[in-house]
Amino acid sequence: MHNLRVSLLIALTALFAMHIFAGDYKNFKVAVYCRAYEVEKMGDANWLETVWDELSKGVHVDKIYLETHRDLLIVDEKILESAIAFFRAKGIEVAGGITYTRDESNFFETFCYSNPDDRAKVSEIASYTARFFDEVILDDFFFTNCKCNLCIGAKKDRSWTDFRLELMRDAAVDLVLNPARAVNPDVEVVIKYPNWYEHFQGLGFNLEEQPPLFDGLYTGTETRNRTSNQHLQQYHGYAIFRYFENLKPGQNRGGWVDTGGSNPLDRYAEQLWLTLFAKAPEITLFDIRQLDSPFRENTRAAWQGTGTSFDFDEMKKPLRQEDGSMFEPTKYARVAGYSLEIVDRVLGYLGKPVGIKSYKPYHSVGEDFIQNYLGMIGIPIDIVPEFPEGEEMVFLTASAKFDPQIVEKIKHQLTAGKNVTITSGLYKALQGKGIEDIVELRVTERRANVSEFRAGWGPTVKIEEAIIIPQIHYLTNDSWEVVSALDNTNGWPILHRADYSDGRFYVLTVPDNFIDFYIMPAKVLNSLRQNIAGNLGVSIEGQGEISLFVYDNSSFVVESFLDKEATINIVFDEETEQITDVFTGEIIPGNFREAPAFRNRKFVKDAFTFEVNIKPHSFRAFTNHPPVKK
Ligand SMILES: [Zn+2]
Repeated sequence: MHNLRVSLLIALTALFAMHIFAGDYKNFKVAVYCRAYEVEKMGDANWLETVWDELSKGVHVDKIYLETHRDLLIVDEKILESAIAFFRAKGIEVAGGITYTRDESNFFETFCYSNPDDRAKVSEIASYTARFFDEVILDDFFFTNCKCNLCIGAKKDRSWTDFRLELMRDAAVDLVLNPARAVNPDVEVVIKYPNWYEHFQGLGFNLEEQPPLFDGLYTGTETRNRTSNQHLQQYHGYAIFRYFENLKPGQNRGGWVDTGGSNPLDRYAEQLWLTLFAKAPEITLFDIRQLDSPFRENTRAAWQGTGTSFDFDEMKKPLRQEDGSMFEPTKYARVAGYSLEIVDRVLGYLGKPVGIKSYKPYHSVGEDFIQNYLGMIGIPIDIVPEFPEGEEMVFLTASAKFDPQIVEKIKHQLTAGKNVTITSGLYKALQGKGIEDIVELRVTERRANVSEFRAGWGPTVKIEEAIIIPQIHYLTNDSWEVVSALDNTNGWPILHRADYSDGRFYVLTVPDNFIDFYIMPAKVLNSLRQNIAGNLGVSIEGQGEISLFVYDNSSFVVESFLDKEATINIVFDEETEQITDVFTGEIIPGNFREAPAFRNRKFVKDAFTFEVNIKPHSFRAFTNHPPVKK
């Protein structure tokens, strides 16, 4: 009875939460970024009034970033002052922005930090901007890709990475922070990092030494369409925010999404949602010009009209304004406003995000962005810059080879009775460097083309397309295949287990093409999820390209990136009679599933399972107890 009442309450809350005009959001602030080009246009009061009127009807805006410089365009101080006054009069928080590009259109040409004239310019822009604002954000480009003769001379025989890491750490202090603070002692300078974190060190973004110097960090969470240039997986938008939060806890001030690569339009909404599922306190919409652009009818996806989380037709519906007039949405501002209203309805139920900690040493490279591919198959991941203490499971990739003590740290974790999973890429990198002390394997140069798998009991399962994996050899009866791949009668490990001291050590075979994880059979993925992330208390069973986000208050979100509706099982290892969909208030009863016993031993746990459907490109948020909204 109690639960029924609670769910009724949720349903009512959800109903009343539907806005007839773009209302403010309860769980985050919305900021709009304006490039120097558009800030300059704000000198025309008519232009500003018209653009702002339409934009603010589509999305509630709490804060505006006014950029002072981009591509050597410095906005005149009279225009800046009038724009600041315009937004303050509307009760909007105002902050400054700087883009340190010489010419963005020329392969993102940055300043040369070896050139005295450029250095003076960078410093001048910092002090100029700090005169007007108490908060200043640096957009994406505070890095250098300059290889001029001055830089070549200054680099000497160091690597570009070592040269640029030092150059840009010093530039942050000498050319940005000190000049800005000298002009305005109250100024807070925030560095916004873009989405390509694996490669930062090569261009001087210094994640080790810069975060303590700056007042705050900001995260580029845009992933766009994954077929576009960067090939970023959707889960990246969540994982990168958590990673940067772990670099400077409590001072990752927000996530940042643009409208690029948003076809179908659901892709834009997903990026906003993923940023907020990571619990970003602020979302920045880049930028005022993009928000003022019309969305196209041909971005309405084939699955529209089937009840997906992003409802194109609902988004387009005319909105009644406070003065009674009707507003017809045609631009991106409303796409953002609508998508944010949808996610705001569930965020209040979600606690602090948790996941399997994946240690990525500073300035390391290995298997680029692989954590995000695991996130895409329902393994919640939390990337951290130090080896985490006291975790049940630590997940390590080839990047971890950058820590010279890594084998000792793995052993320490295992002898403490905890567990470690490493990728085949890391095992290979550590071969001959002491990893054989834990288990003697050989990750060979040979490859296998596999389409048949064995995971646990029962018949093998097949997939339509073969995938290519490295062949791992091991010593029979010294370690064991938990999940195997087969080709005719031959076979190799996919997940391999070796116990060491009181801990469990797993090696996960990474397909040559990471994306092939997505097409592994559900039975294989279920085993990977259970063995790698089973300690989180909740997991999913089903196909790939469905992510799971887990929070510390018994709430969780599942989000599908599939183009078709999917059915999954949500699995608890503790007694859980029912779960509540906090968006709809629907209560879903669970089933007890007793694990089969062999000679009185159980190889998997008893479980409480819930079958749920997820529409294409949609999310569902649940709690496993009567929900409490913050
Ligand atoms: Zn240079």
